[in-house]
Amino acid sequence: MDEHRDPDHWKDLSSMEIAHSTYVRNAMSANEWHTRYNLAKFGKSVDRTEWDMQPQTYNAYYNPSNNEICVPGCNIIVPGYERVMADDAILYSIIGGGTFGHEITHGFDDQGCQYDEQGNLNNWWTNEDSTKFFTKTKMIVEQFNGYTAVDSLHINGEQTQGENIADLAGVMMGYESFKNTRQFKEEQRIAGLTPDERYFLGYAFGWMINMRPEGIASQVKSDVHSPAQFRVIGPLMDISEVYATFGIKSTDTMYRPENMRVKIW
Ligand SMILES: [Zn+2]
Repeated sequence: MDEHRDPDHWKDLSSMEIAHSTYVRNAMSANEWHTRYNLAKFGKSVDRTEWDMQPQTYNAYYNPSNNEICVPGCNIIVPGYERVMADDAILYSIIGGGTFGHEITHGFDDQGCQYDEQGNLNNWWTNEDSTKFFTKTKMIVEQFNGYTAVDSLHINGEQTQGENIADLAGVMMGYESFKNTRQFKEEQRIAGLTPDERYFLGYAFGWMINMRPEGIASQVKSDVHSPAQFRVIGPLMDISEVYATFGIKSTDTMYRPENMRVKIW
């Protein structure tokens, strides 16, 4: 596998019009530049060296055409821990699960599953596997359709399903990896918390975001990601270990009957 510290080619942004005018004008120019850039790709072969993000971007992505995940160095930071190393539970939940596990799963979500190992749109699944997979993804669509994000506005389970699948499998992937650490095996308590408590709380910690109701409403209508709050409670409500860790009972708000808990990967 290729490793790259920096992009092979830096994008030439010199034609992007940025001026000391207004923020909105600059944002529009940047959008316009990116739209033109993407339109220019039409009919050409895939550039497998392209980076869709800058090294200093706090984000990560999966690109089905390249069969790759891209995690800019900036994303290997735990908020609040810029100068010290967080404990394993936090590293494995936020970076292991929320970033690497999440991005890898995109290769096997409702969209990523349609691309073969060369990155081409080509159905490589048996009918039986597809049927089983889509029975499970239907459950996660229904789960998220049931969440009210703001006022009476529900999350769109169909629109957000790829991200919700990636979140759920990501948390589990990080958790399975965390089980191999010494901190987990020795059941080390830190600040009075067990490894399991720290792992799941750590995952939630990574999503502490403040948004105005208008921002949440706009996200629900236009974004493939569920609002941060539901990126935490959604997947965690599907994981039986969470119930055991926090002693969640059938009368609790975060309870989901066992037969409704989604497990895809
Ligand atoms: Zn994602």
